[in-house]
Amino acid sequence: MMDTIYFDNNATTKVAEEVLDQIRPFYCELYGNPSSMHTFGGQIGSKIRHAREQVAGLLGCDPVEIIFTSGGTESDNTAIKGALAANPNRTKIITSRVEHPAVLTVCRDLENHGFTIVEIGVDNNGRLDMGQLADQIDETTALVTIMYANNETGTIFPIDEISKMTVENDAIFHTDAVQAVGKIPLNLEQSHVDMLSLSGHKLHAPKGVGILYVRKGTRLSPFMLGGHQEAGRRAGTENVPGIVGLGKACELAAENIEQENDRIKYLRDKLENAILKSCPDCRVNGDRENRLPNTANISFEYIEGESILLMLDQFGICASSGSACTSGSLEPSHVLRAMGVPFTAAHGSIRFSLSRYSTEKEIDYTIEKLPQIINRLRELSPFVKK
Ligand code: PLP
Repeated sequence: MMDTIYFDNNATTKVAEEVLDQIRPFYCELYGNPSSMHTFGGQIGSKIRHAREQVAGLLGCDPVEIIFTSGGTESDNTAIKGALAANPNRTKIITSRVEHPAVLTVCRDLENHGFTIVEIGVDNNGRLDMGQLADQIDETTALVTIMYANNETGTIFPIDEISKMTVENDAIFHTDAVQAVGKIPLNLEQSHVDMLSLSGHKLHAPKGVGILYVRKGTRLSPFMLGGHQEAGRRAGTENVPGIVGLGKACELAAENIEQENDRIKYLRDKLENAILKSCPDCRVNGDRENRLPNTANISFEYIEGESILLMLDQFGICASSGSACTSGSLEPSHVLRAMGVPFTAAHGSIRFSLSRYSTEKEIDYTIEKLPQIINRLRELSPFVKK
């Protein structure tokens, strides 16, 4: 039996050792408040500035466009509510049916406050219906909030094309890039994205830190009110260890992204192809041509995803049966339902999400164990004709 095999990196990631080394002094030695007048606290300001530069380096933007937040959920809330508050004359919000709840729940709640919400659909492969978007976007559209890449299937959306439409209609474009940053190269300077959310714990930084990128000139009302931190754009004493760690994690991601992506994709494809070959009645969910290199979402007909997870767990293999936030509920994932995945297949879906720490040995072990698990569960399933 191997040690824990962690294939749930879209839920959260291990903090990189290099990141932890950078963070440690900020708990018991360099613990000053960057807003203090004394040198002890004041010296922290330069560390935050450095972290801001490191994040901007990964995103290809200006450091002043970075606002540190507590994570993806806060960044999404700030972007959506802040953009609407700053642009009160428009009332339509366009989003997609497959967003994370940090976007979808906020938008649906705004429907109770006089906004019109349009949720753009996806096809069977999880690709956004660009025709529907073109039909819906107009001069009443305040905000388009559409994710960069889907957390469950890894499908990447056509961000450049969407952003051009928002420019033509003078609408603000926010993208939840929590799953994309660190996994695929981005360059915000060359894009028309107005706002972008990132979460530290998805790219080997600690939990509880993230950023909202806000393009210079984008009107945004602050969401968190209080002190003058982050140039008055986000109140609250800075999470200095988290910010320093996020900076380092972004620097590492920028260094690793090209060479690591090929290796991770090779491992993901090896796993996926072996499963498709050895297990009948299974399918890959998502756009196989345009996906995050680390994500495989596979549906196994006639069996429950939860049962597969429990049996994988007995072999020390961690995976997920949907997004981290929705697993635990018996409802099949809203993403797979939006894609029209048949109910029987959606119920038996498993997401494997790899990281730069995933190894070929772990993939080979999983390839050996998974078919045994699937066969065993199908023998027990009342839905399989015997
Ligand atoms: N957006 C997406 C696409 C996510 O996958 C997640 C987390 O799973 C979030 C937002 C929320 O981020 P956080 O956990 O940092 O609040």
